[in-house]
Amino acid sequence: MALFGRERITGKTPEQLRLMRAAGLLVGQTLALLAERVEPGMTTKALDELAEEHIRGGGGVPSFLGYHGFTGTLCTSVNEEVVHGIPGTRVLREGDLLSIDCGAIVQGWHGDAAVSLVVGGREAARPEDLQLIDATEAAMWAGIGALVVGQPLYAVGAAVEDEIDAAGERDGRTYGIVEDYVGHGIGTSMHMDPQVPNYRVEGRGPKVVDGTTIAIEPMITLGDQDNRVLADDWTVVTLDGARAAHWENTVAATADGLWVLTEVDGGASRLGRLGVAYAALC
Ligand code: MG
Ligand code: MG
Repeated sequence: MALFGRERITGKTPEQLRLMRAAGLLVGQTLALLAERVEPGMTTKALDELAEEHIRGGGGVPSFLGYHGFTGTLCTSVNEEVVHGIPGTRVLREGDLLSIDCGAIVQGWHGDAAVSLVVGGREAARPEDLQLIDATEAAMWAGIGALVVGQPLYAVGAAVEDEIDAAGERDGRTYGIVEDYVGHGIGTSMHMDPQVPNYRVEGRGPKVVDGTTIAIEPMITLGDQDNRVLADDWTVVTLDGARAAHWENTVAATADGLWVLTEVDGGASRLGRLGVAYAALC
């Protein structure tokens, strides 16, 4: 991956951030609905149809659908699939580790977020999958907490890596941080500059400015980080077959703090626990 570091970030206006919140909230609500409704025996396509109906019913358009020919509203990635799984006839089984990535456009503005969960609930999970899911979610929040106006953007990746290292020590294993896919700027398109690595890189990257909006999305594995793309040209799987998790939020940074645009509560509760200023615009 080429990192240029000289990229500049253009901040959004308060009005633009409010528009992005509408898209982000719709994505967050869709993911909450899917997490509630997913169950063993369901196909990934059924989950996808639920998502499309909910996004369109909320006045949005699914952003993944048709993106470079992608055929889903969601990416549904199961077990050793890291990201970009295509919804289809696959039947979800109890104990599957499912990552759901969802994007929507409302009035031209994008939201992008992902969650990982175990089909059938936490009691159906392998202990190591729960540890992986929780470590990846915590790493996402550590990265979010490192997004500070006036500070270097690459602090996000360093915070993700440190959190994963700490989790590995606690859990007695070495987690893999996938380096081939990264977070990104977001606004009037889903993928915009700058790139946001999920690991420590040389240099500081662009400075975070007032009104910065980025998607922070660590992808973490129970084994090695090496991966390949399946013959469907989309699905990314781990080379060693180890399971992977993926969490993502679209986040706005302003001088007053953070607004997690794709969390239903705007990030208020989790940021509060992290001691990070929560700054929603009303
Ligand atoms: Mg995404
Ligand atoms: Mg993304």
